[in-house]
Amino acid sequence: MMKTSFINPFSNDAKEIVRKLGNIEYLDKKDDDLVNIITHTPSQQLGIDAQIPDTLLKLALKRFEWYLYKKLEDFNEKKYEYLFNPDIYEYDVVSFYLLCQALAIVYGSQSHEVKQLIDSEKELISQRLEKIKAEPTDVQSNFLRNALNQLVDTNNLKWTQIKEVLELGQLDLNNLLLADGRVIIEFEDFIGEYGDLINNRDPMAMYQVTGGVELKSTLLISLVMLHTKEYIRTVEEKTKMVEPNPLLITLAEKIRDVEDDVQEKRFSSKGSNFQNDNQPIPYNMEAFPPCVRKCMKGIKSGSRNDAIVLFLTPFIAYSRLYPGIFGLDEPIKISQVDPTLEITHNEVIPLIYEAAASCSPPLFKDQPQEKININSKLGFGMHSELKLENEGQTQWYTPMSCEKIKLHMSTLCTPNKDCKKIGNPLTYYNRKRRLLEREENNNK
Ligand code: SF4
Repeated sequence: MMKTSFINPFSNDAKEIVRKLGNIEYLDKKDDDLVNIITHTPSQQLGIDAQIPDTLLKLALKRFEWYLYKKLEDFNEKKYEYLFNPDIYEYDVVSFYLLCQALAIVYGSQSHEVKQLIDSEKELISQRLEKIKAEPTDVQSNFLRNALNQLVDTNNLKWTQIKEVLELGQLDLNNLLLADGRVIIEFEDFIGEYGDLINNRDPMAMYQVTGGVELKSTLLISLVMLHTKEYIRTVEEKTKMVEPNPLLITLAEKIRDVEDDVQEKRFSSKGSNFQNDNQPIPYNMEAFPPCVRKCMKGIKSGSRNDAIVLFLTPFIAYSRLYPGIFGLDEPIKISQVDPTLEITHNEVIPLIYEAAASCSPPLFKDQPQEKININSKLGFGMHSELKLENEGQTQWYTPMSCEKIKLHMSTLCTPNKDCKKIGNPLTYYNRKRRLLEREENNNK
């Protein structure tokens, strides 16, 4: 039988493990078997630096830490090799439930921490499934069939049954093979539906290209994400009137400490020149470029919608939350710099809405759906409300370049002397801000 560190936490086997190992009294007691598994994991870094977890609670914290530290430049995978050791799966399942419960009880199902946990689960399962790719395709396929059939019937799954899975954004309905509304997942169903149409080609190769192992893996990951969300919601609901266990509170607090540590490391690793710009900084509206000022007074004619949604929204968001975005190689999410969305709700959105209301006619009066487009440009999908749980469904748009503005919204661009040699209104803002700061310091 194939050995893997993946186990579906919502399978009956997993629930049995939790019953066996999840006794609250043992969660912070040293477990020699756990230590033994970790220290015998091939390639595992040992020693003081690796901070091997010796209790279930510490393992839960490490599981979360792995995901956050992975984003740091000096991340060392060898410290967490045990998370991919098949022998750890029983402890891993218990630590997963501990995390779900601690975060649901202390921070709530809509919190940034819960969202991070769901993302980390997705990442962990992806990496674990990646490791089974060394196996022959039919072995992988059977393994995935068994894992999936603990959650759905892969021979009889209507697309309408996975609407919520599709909303997570990992699978696209347009890319699924459907027959009478049924999603074609298994090879025998693929042959049953399309076998007659395949000539001079390897049917298995065709099946793999149109779905196969890739589809099964993505479906499995999405289903686990969805079940995790639901489980956390249930825990939150059930424990509202109950005093939380102090061990879970401590775990939740330690998770916040890890988050703070990661934030600090990320922002301080960019060098002093960037330090201020890679974190939220208060607005200095005096430093806004002419195009932004004009837009904020409201657009009276032409390109009103694009000016507010495509141009102003990204500028207002990045200038407050992450003005140094052009120094970063990868996209970023708002919650990475504004975890509770407090600044976004209290400062960013009001400024955008104010500009929208100053337009003639006011933007939302005749086109209220533009609020959804604004949320989408901030990375929160096509939803009327801006919620953490939807983050990542779309990308956080970066501010438009001067060239594009001149091409598509030429009336906005009335350059002044500071516009020389800059390519983007955000660059203008960062430079001007520093100039003004310097002037202020000199006048002190
Ligand atoms: S040059 Fe760029 S920054 Fe200056 S007004 Fe035009 S678009 Fe704005």
